[in-house]
Amino acid sequence: MSYRALPLACYCGERPDRILEVGFTSDQKMVVHYWCSACSRVLFISKGLAECSAECPAPDAEDALPQAAAEDARFLQRMGITAPE
Ligand SMILES: [Zn+2]
Repeated sequence: MSYRALPLACYCGERPDRILEVGFTSDQKMVVHYWCSACSRVLFISKGLAECSAECPAPDAEDALPQAAAEDARFLQRMGITAPE
């Protein structure tokens, strides 16, 4: 599974150094409040489900091959390592 960080930026161009809160609205959006210490400002972004889906990375080629993952799990098991579910 691949992962893409949500890009957060302030109007001043700095990257925020602290996320204050993550929540959801009554109209089914995700809201992220964050803090820019460069200009001492609280900012927020909100994204609907469709916007979140649009920002997800494409599925990995590995994800399409559950057999390979099972092979990996068996290999790790033989090494004494249990893969998390
Ligand atoms: Zn700023």
